[in-house]
Amino acid sequence: MNIILLGPPGAGKGTQARKLVEERGMIQLSTGDMLREAKTSGTDMGKKVAAIMDAGELVTDEIVIGLIEEKLRGDNAGGFIFDGFPRTLAQADALGALLEKTGQTLHSVIEMRVDDDALVSRITGRFTCGNCGEGYHDVMKRPAVDGTCDVCGAQDMQRRADDNEESLRTRLMEYYKKTSPLIGYYYAKGQLKDVDGLADIDDVAKSISEALG
Ligand code: AMP
Repeated sequence: MNIILLGPPGAGKGTQARKLVEERGMIQLSTGDMLREAKTSGTDMGKKVAAIMDAGELVTDEIVIGLIEEKLRGDNAGGFIFDGFPRTLAQADALGALLEKTGQTLHSVIEMRVDDDALVSRITGRFTCGNCGEGYHDVMKRPAVDGTCDVCGAQDMQRRADDNEESLRTRLMEYYKKTSPLIGYYYAKGQLKDVDGLADIDDVAKSISEALG
């Protein structure tokens, strides 16, 4: 089963994708993670996208479609979760064509609904374990011991360069201008399901499970 998690930055797409990986053995394809990895390892592409990402703007369709195309050729036994992709209508068309080419289908698109006020506090307070990727928050989810990951015990908490108010404003504008038209796009195809992204993590997971059937 291949699905898309759709929603603004901070909606909880990454958190829910991790749960689906654990519970259903699905494969998370996060273009944001792939781009951050390229940025950290200093590849030519990473250098090209670094400033764009830090400012909160979208990188070109060509780059992200290329990243996804590579991954679609790999193992998909548990199905793919597209997290943060597609983000434009051109990317959505490209994904449709790539799936068709590889004989795969899209099961559903889960729209995670949240309001902007919640997004600001969610994003400016969040940090992640650099070792295992577990997510935390200054107010909502602190580790039991400050600076130490509850899951793997590493002491390597990291904050994203673009999780500040200025970049967030740009990211939200990009979302409403370029990504939110995808809601109508997938609704028209009969593939859209929405969940309340403001509920507790486990409740959101339950709603997603129900929506997936
Ligand atoms: P994310 O981790 O999904 O919030 O993505 C972080 C940043 O990576 C975004 O603000 C964009 O600069 C870039 N990015 C990630 N996915 C895409 C995409 N599908 N299209 C364009 N830019 C992307």
